[in-house]
Amino acid sequence: MLLPILLAAIATLPSAAQTTKRPGLSTTAMTPDPAMPRPIDARDSVFLEELTWLEVRDAIRAGKTSIIVATGGVEQNGPYLVTGKHNYVLRGTTEAIARKLGNTLVAPVVPFVPEGDIEPPSSHMKYPGTISLRAATFQALLTDIAESLEAHGFREVIFIGDSGGNQAGMKETAARLNAKWGTKARALFIPEYYDFYNSGALSKWLESQGVHEKDEGHHDNVAITAMMLTVDPESVRMRERRAKGRFSINGVALDPAEKTIALGKKAVAYRAEVTVAAIQKARAGRK
Ligand SMILES: [Zn+2]
Repeated sequence: MLLPILLAAIATLPSAAQTTKRPGLSTTAMTPDPAMPRPIDARDSVFLEELTWLEVRDAIRAGKTSIIVATGGVEQNGPYLVTGKHNYVLRGTTEAIARKLGNTLVAPVVPFVPEGDIEPPSSHMKYPGTISLRAATFQALLTDIAESLEAHGFREVIFIGDSGGNQAGMKETAARLNAKWGTKARALFIPEYYDFYNSGALSKWLESQGVHEKDEGHHDNVAITAMMLTVDPESVRMRERRAKGRFSINGVALDPAEKTIALGKKAVAYRAEVTVAAIQKARAGRK
């Protein structure tokens, strides 16, 4: 007596023929010929996720075999900056570095990084909006990303991190990848990119630009705000702060915005210069 029920159940299942007819999910849609010609001109973007797979394939064929894997963060950044601060900064710096270095693309920014213990919460994890990875998760994520890129023909994966907690994991991952890859590909960890924020380099550079900060105790500063401003004024809450007379940070006025944006562009260019020099030095050291 089960037969009618069984037949009814089978009747409701989609048939193979119906499945293949669904646009975008047919067998050919899921397995296009890897050698198919690109039917349209390629777009000029360094960002992997803004390119089609054919544009990426042809870029690699044309010699763009280096790729930047940048790590940002999602964390508390004071009362004015959005939690994605580091990711916004990286949108500007990675493009500048890739274009200056040449033959380089940029992988999607990794927004998930170690931010503190999850349970009980420590460091930035004490604040809503923060997402933290355990060190092992972070390194596993970086490893899978780098190995995916290597599988497609990238021969150099360049790790840079915009936040302090990201540095050790990238360094360890790069060392492990190099041990595994041997001569077929290489991973470079470039700490000089982050060093901009430390060792007095940032304040020295700002002083050289005529900017004198007085720490107000927020996880925020003029250079960070200026770099974010070059990417998106919404990310630093320009409008809302002006309405309250708070469009300043660490005692430095951020208006006129054009002036701060110009400073941000200079900061991005400066970091690109320092980072590219460090990448070239790291390359020379590996030859
Ligand atoms: Zn940070």
